[in-house]
Amino acid sequence: MFIDKIEIYVKAGNGGNGCVSFRREKYVSHGGPDGGDGGNGGNVVFKVDEGSNTLLAFRYKRKFLAEAGQNGMGGKCHGKNGADVEILVPRGTLIRDAKSGRVIKDMSDDEPFIVCKGGRGGWGNKHFATATRQAPRFAKDGTKGEEKNLLLELKMIADVGLVGLPSAGKSSLLATVSAARPKVAEYHFTTLEPSLGVVSTGEERGFVMADIPGLIEGAAEGAGLGHDFLRHIERCRLLVQVVDVSGYEGRAAADDFNTIAEELENFSEELANRPRIIAANKCDLLPDGIDTEEMRSLKVLADALGYKVIPISTATRMGIKELVNEIERQLETLPPITVYEAEIEPEEMLEDEGPEATIIRRADDGAYVCEGRWLEMLCGRVYFDDRESLMYFQRSLTTYGIIEKLRQAGCGEGDTVRMFDIEFDFVD
Ligand code: GDP
Ligand code: MG
Repeated sequence: MFIDKIEIYVKAGNGGNGCVSFRREKYVSHGGPDGGDGGNGGNVVFKVDEGSNTLLAFRYKRKFLAEAGQNGMGGKCHGKNGADVEILVPRGTLIRDAKSGRVIKDMSDDEPFIVCKGGRGGWGNKHFATATRQAPRFAKDGTKGEEKNLLLELKMIADVGLVGLPSAGKSSLLATVSAARPKVAEYHFTTLEPSLGVVSTGEERGFVMADIPGLIEGAAEGAGLGHDFLRHIERCRLLVQVVDVSGYEGRAAADDFNTIAEELENFSEELANRPRIIAANKCDLLPDGIDTEEMRSLKVLADALGYKVIPISTATRMGIKELVNEIERQLETLPPITVYEAEIEPEEMLEDEGPEATIIRRADDGAYVCEGRWLEMLCGRVYFDDRESLMYFQRSLTTYGIIEKLRQAGCGEGDTVRMFDIEFDFVD
């Protein structure tokens, strides 16, 4: 089983509620307010896991919840902050908004990324004492942690991507030029995990090569992989197409070449047009040397497209050095690996949940019911015992057009308005 695309649900921790409490001490009859603040909720954080090349870990776990902040306590005790939840992904994982498909983050560098922020802890009543209000009997509730449905998609970070039919020798080639040990098999083995290998070409020099599960390999076995796998090499700067020229598989090299070229085109024109080198493999199996009919027809095809053909044998290492040199030479002229720009900022995701997304409907009893994420958050922050807080609430309703919306919906003087746990009469 290989997973390279998966939807998950994440939620940051809610903030803890502030506490209402009064100091009790011997000889102090009316102690002041001492209710502590709630702790902040934990964040949802993505980190790169160097050891992993698949999203397999998400097969059974698709829900990630960070810890909530603890409620504040008496004695000015601050509630404990909730712990973050860390999600480890392979390097090169794209995090997308599941609904719109837009990229939120490309996990290709080492920076941890906070995708959902924890809710803020609410203030305890100790903050609300004023000269005229010495015993505030209210505290603020914590705000909700953000939640999101995300689509994770793996696009590995490699300079060079290997493509070719099953048993062409892709895995053998990667094993020959790097320390990677992908599975090499005599039969049409379905490599289910992509492998990355670092090809060193001198001190501090080298490139990363990727061996991906073969498209035809899976399709032939009914694994239904299709050419989706090419997604992994989408950001490779250069492709090396491995073609078996020995004729041992009973296939013509030129046909093999075309099959893969078609697959690439079907997947994306851009990938089909990516610079490419042809590695004509298994030359050790040609008893009369490499100047065969097969080889010549392959060259004709490649020449027409401007691809260089390099005869190699992973078995005898013939041509390997030339191939590596040619790869390095071409890479020097090519642009760096694509890093996907964020198409959406995490905050922006609340966009369709802002004040303008507020919905007003009539309840059975005639009340005007207002709903929406933004409004819910606003209501969560208000307490009606506090004059200033109330004024802020009223001001917000006007500024953000909710009052106007209510008017448009037909709400008039004296009508009942309901917003979450709040109910009041409309005063125009
Ligand atoms: P992949 O499916 O493209 O990854 O192919 P593998 O690397 O698994 O190789 C398939 C088979 O071809 C294995 O049995 C390899 O040992 C064999 N093979 C690969 N390269 C060569 C080569 O240069 N010469 C010979 N004789 N056999 C090779
Ligand atoms: Mg293989």
